Amino acid sequence: MLDTPLSLGATIGVLGDGQLGRMMSQAAARLGFKVAVFGPEAGAPAAQVSASATVAGYDDEAALRRFAAQCDVITLEFENIPAATLDVLTGLGKVVAPGAHALRVTQDRVLEKTFARDHGVATVDFRAVDAPGDLEAALAALGTPALLKTRRDGYDGKGQAWIRSPAEAGAAWNAVGGKPSILEAKASFTREISVVAARGWNGEIRAFPIGENRHVDGILATTLAPAPVSAAVTQAAHDIARRVLEGLDYVGVLAVELFVLDGDRLVLNEIAPRVHNSGHWTQEGCVCDQFEQHVRAVAGWPLGDPSARCTVEMRNLLGDDILDWPRLAAEPNAQLHVYGKAEPRPGRKMGHINRIKS
Ligand code: AMP
Repeated sequence: MLDTPLSLGATIGVLGDGQLGRMMSQAAARLGFKVAVFGPEAGAPAAQVSASATVAGYDDEAALRRFAAQCDVITLEFENIPAATLDVLTGLGKVVAPGAHALRVTQDRVLEKTFARDHGVATVDFRAVDAPGDLEAALAALGTPALLKTRRDGYDGKGQAWIRSPAEAGAAWNAVGGKPSILEAKASFTREISVVAARGWNGEIRAFPIGENRHVDGILATTLAPAPVSAAVTQAAHDIARRVLEGLDYVGVLAVELFVLDGDRLVLNEIAPRVHNSGHWTQEGCVCDQFEQHVRAVAGWPLGDPSARCTVEMRNLLGDDILDWPRLAAEPNAQLHVYGKAEPRPGRKMGHINRIKS
């Protein structure tokens, strides 16, 4: 718990060194804060724009101690930070937001969906699959098609395998590396949407307008926001965000990915305990963007105004897409964001462009 708001010029520690940390750091600088990043890679996207960078593994206690000594509050930009790392930092007397509990729940797809159901949020049908025998029983219960996903460490469609008939079970189990997994019934969704929302230390909640997401090969391709959904869907999604934020006793910004089913029923797919790719549109689209909102929340500042100023289509620039930067940079009514990664590997998030639609 932060007792008083951070002073001007205070230092915010960020665990993780990718593009989310980079944009968080840029927003923090705008409010006069310094950012100290902690991550495994020298010259990483966040390190390039931060006041200091500690390059070390998340289990390096000596490095964590050096990092903690610089920080007035600590947050994260990557959900697979080991919860034990947060325990070390809180053990050093540091305030960390979000906390270890939120990470433990959201790092495991079975715990995450169980948490959602316990808090009145619908999910797709699922079964835990810890061994091949469980998979047979889970398939018998859920039928096909079904999606097998590793419980932990999956992202951007990695660690997932569709099972179209029971005969494919063995191949799917091998495809996810025989790791503890979750089997999910196929959601026949009409849209994929996400809600990005913040909660402050005082329990205040502010949610951004809804984004509609399109994925290609399991990776987010575009977000259109505010999404063309009814007021009732927006209200229901905001209610889900509130349940999740309060249930996790969460401080900061998080994202909840939702499937919209027939009849506008919403089911939760995933919770990201951090700022999120589907919230990048807020940079040009909202009065206060998700990065600044996160900084404000963890710093104990008043939350910003999340209202939309315009409709934005955010498009991710994956791999070689970034080589098109001269044309993208010349587009009217658009803002190009580049992450400073050296090598454009296929599928790698290199930047995004926010195109203002109205
Ligand atoms: P995830 O990594 O869980 O966010 O999944 C990546 C993408 O795969 C989602 O955005 C959906 O497009 C698709 N997907 C994931 N789970 C399901 C499901 N149970 N039913 C249908 N599509 C899914």
